[in-house]
Amino acid sequence: MAEYREGSTSRATFPLPDVEWPPTAPYWDGAASGELRIPFCDACGASNWFPEAECGACLASAFTWRVMSGQGTLFSWVVVHRPFLAQYADDIPFVPALVSLDEAPEVRVPTRIVETEPDSLIFDMAVTVAFRPLHFRGVDGEVTAPFFVPA
Ligand SMILES: [Zn+2]
Repeated sequence: MAEYREGSTSRATFPLPDVEWPPTAPYWDGAASGELRIPFCDACGASNWFPEAECGACLASAFTWRVMSGQGTLFSWVVVHRPFLAQYADDIPFVPALVSLDEAPEVRVPTRIVETEPDSLIFDMAVTVAFRPLHFRGVDGEVTAPFFVPA
């Protein structure tokens, strides 16, 4: 199991993702390079999402991060109208979503749908990755994140 990193919500950069946390660092490295990367088990080939130290299917611990096309379908979403943390005050309304990837439909990427009217969203609609800066009010720095837009 991946170890929980104490104090992760008290980091000065919270709620920006911790891009150096080993289980997810390749995901954020990929995003910074314009690639959507997902880990697959070297032993059994299963996609492993959310990334963990051991394969969820066979408990092996070696993975290869594959670059996905970025094409997928909208599995689920909500529209957030009230900032549940002060850092989100500049973002509302925003659309947290789960996207199922075409090459690995069992993978559901937590993301946001951006640059579209929330009322136009339809279950299972085609979406494509769009790398955008993620930043928050009162938080220094930003992280390039895989968001999605209608395909
Ligand atoms: Zn495996």
